[in-house]
Amino acid sequence: MTRRKSSKPSPLTSPPVPLTTEDSPLTPHLSPPLVAIIGRPNVGKSTLFNKILGVKTAIVDDVPGVTRDRNYADATYRQRTFRLVDTGGLDLSASDGMLALIRRQSEIAIAEADILIFLLDGRSGLTPSDHEVVRLLRGVTKPVFMAINKIDTPKSEPLIADFYQLGVDELYPVSAEHGIGVSELLDALYPLLRAADGTNELSQLPRIAVVGRPNVGKSTMINALLGEERVVVSDIPGTTRDPIDSLVTHAGKRYVFTDTAGIRRRGKIDRGIEGWSVLRSLRAIGRSDVAVLVLDGEEGVTEQDTKIAGAILKQGRACILWINKWDLRVGDAEARKNYELELHRRFPFLTWAPVLYGSALKSESARTVFAQIDDVYAMFTKRISTGTLNTWLQNILLVHPLPVRKGKPAKVTKSAFVTQVTTKPPAFALFVGHPENITPSYLRYLENQLRESYGFTGTPLRLLVRKK
Ligand code: GDP
Ligand code: GDP
Repeated sequence: MTRRKSSKPSPLTSPPVPLTTEDSPLTPHLSPPLVAIIGRPNVGKSTLFNKILGVKTAIVDDVPGVTRDRNYADATYRQRTFRLVDTGGLDLSASDGMLALIRRQSEIAIAEADILIFLLDGRSGLTPSDHEVVRLLRGVTKPVFMAINKIDTPKSEPLIADFYQLGVDELYPVSAEHGIGVSELLDALYPLLRAADGTNELSQLPRIAVVGRPNVGKSTMINALLGEERVVVSDIPGTTRDPIDSLVTHAGKRYVFTDTAGIRRRGKIDRGIEGWSVLRSLRAIGRSDVAVLVLDGEEGVTEQDTKIAGAILKQGRACILWINKWDLRVGDAEARKNYELELHRRFPFLTWAPVLYGSALKSESARTVFAQIDDVYAMFTKRISTGTLNTWLQNILLVHPLPVRKGKPAKVTKSAFVTQVTTKPPAFALFVGHPENITPSYLRYLENQLRESYGFTGTPLRLLVRKK
């Protein structure tokens, strides 16, 4: 690679970034690479994050009961999907001072991300905090893209010269605020982003993520589930070199547990860091079919748990709630009833998830989760024929006809048609003459009827309304 020369097309005149956020319920099941923006505070990380995502409103999270979380989002650039993380938004305690904060955020990103964008501030030049990040990046084999921000006009382009002392071949001048140079940066990332296809044998197996906040017992659970038969594998071509998944055989069936190696080797990163657990969970959820959300049976449900549960729902994964450390509650007759009430209150959006109570310390207890995984995965991948669905729909319509606008005569029931469009999770398209008449409560009614008729334990369902 060469330095940018003035003979090249100027990065300061690039068109707006053509980008869409991944919010379609029909998005195929992907394992997008994680792209993290690192850098000291105030260089413009969150501005760049928002600019890359383009239409801000498209990533609004409308899951009830879940805190809005703008630190991460899935985005698609020229048909390739990636998950973008703003490390500045990681929920870390700043009690150790700014340098320690930057160090922690960067360490997390370096450990977890597949691709790093190291953002610097062209206006303030190199600072000691930047050098701290540079030090952390030494020896890192993951791709790092150094972008110099706040290069708002061609006049300020000479400001980047200072940064070549870092010894890099290529610097990417950008103006996050004005969206300048951002497509050049994404074009440079592009070859590292995976094309959205790629099936191999491993990708046919059920993929399981064990997720949760720190200290709930995830590692204990994983060790109990994996036992001795664990084989570490890596099926991600291109970006990730570390073997991070484990292949497990239980009762003659095979499963892939995602992101297990990292859970075992925690190394120098503090196990108590909340931001890290969310990031790790996000990544594991994104690469899985079924999320086993481990909750602490003794401590109850926290805000952090709700965040992770919200991510499972948002990403449309199947879910099992594992209430761990239940050994500490034996003899408490009310315990289960109280916990169930708490789950209903904290996770009103996840009532379809089966709940298991157990102890990860006892492997025979932990391993009961396998049977539940089988059930839930069967539902997550279930396909119902169009003929069956429409017989079902006609019966539903007899009892509960489609909503109609006031003053208009009710149409005959044959006016609607339903078909399943995808699995993982099951998604259904309802074709009607007047989509605008279909209310959210009618859709909820249909979803409940689908669940009542076909089970669908442990999987989210998507219902789309389309015009006939
Ligand atoms: P973060 O702490 O790294 O996430 O930084 P922010 O995104 O919050 O930005 C810090 C400040 O820099 C804000 O006042 C932004 O408006 C400003 N800023 C961000 N990008 C640019 C840019 O491209 N040009 C200029 N002039 N200011 C910017
Ligand atoms: P992680 O941070 O979620 O991976 O949690 P760990 O697996 O490291 O467990 C945190 C602590 O909880 C450890 O001291 C475990 O021994 C303990 N622990 C894990 N599972 C159970 C359980 O089912 N019962 C009890 N009593 N303690 C447990």
